[in-house]
Amino acid sequence: MRLLNKVSLITGGSSGIGRETALRFAQEGARVVVVDVNDAAGQETVSLVQQAGGEAVYFHADVSKPADCEKMIAFAESTYGQLNILFNNAGIMHGDDDDAIATTEEVWDLTMAINVKGVFFGCKYGIPALRRAGGGSIINTASFVALLGAATPQLAYTASKGAVLAMTRELAVIHARENIRVNALCPGPLRTELLMKFLNTEAKKQRRLVHVPMGRFGEAREMADAALYLASDESSFVTGTEFMVDGGITAAYVTPE
Ligand code: NAD
Repeated sequence: MRLLNKVSLITGGSSGIGRETALRFAQEGARVVVVDVNDAAGQETVSLVQQAGGEAVYFHADVSKPADCEKMIAFAESTYGQLNILFNNAGIMHGDDDDAIATTEEVWDLTMAINVKGVFFGCKYGIPALRRAGGGSIINTASFVALLGAATPQLAYTASKGAVLAMTRELAVIHARENIRVNALCPGPLRTELLMKFLNTEAKKQRRLVHVPMGRFGEAREMADAALYLASDESSFVTGTEFMVDGGITAAYVTPE
């Protein structure tokens, strides 16, 4: 088992990437603290992990609130004695996120509060816990749009993911000698609720798929496998990376017919 005796905390664990990663980490022997604001779905993730023979607990925390983040880390340590893996994965893509002219300040602020401050607060309280455990792995979910402009306007989201990637690099450098690795997971477009709600017509979906050499949306399970690699000791010399799992998007100039 690749994560035996490790304790992990996953934000956004009620759905999509977070849920699949909770299942994957538990399968590899990790104990999992599932964090979200959607309590019913979070409990469901825990049930799914338990049904598969794994160990998980749910904790309600809004990652945009520092007090909640402080409590979620304390909960992980008091429940399982330590914290080894922190997956700052919760994020939103607001339905009204648009270009610079149409995007409102409210949409901008909410996106930044969850996507950027959420990662900051996770690290603010999580890093001392990882230090207490003698080191660990932090994975921050960014996106391919941290590197490429999006074809469908979503300015606040794109800016937020650029910030997550930049923050990840600096965290990696600052904490490298404390045995704490910090990497950004950069998914391509996925067939999860977050994106399918945003690309809510077939035309919008096809507009996005034009840019994916593999010609399909990625699956949350494929991100969970990537997160597993970054969480495990197999990636022991990997820190500060932008780990692209994007069906070839960032490699492409022209996509195949
Ligand atoms: P999802 O909507 O399925 O899951 C996101 C989860 O985060 C939900 O359970 C939601 O309740 C939770 N969440 C939202 N706000 C929160 C808050 N304030 N505090 C705690 N939890 C909160 O989406 P997903 O596709 O699994 O996305 C996970 C991450 O992956 C996000 O950071 C997203 O930006 C990123 N991402 C997704 C895609 C994609 O195409 N789906 C692509 C690149 C990056």
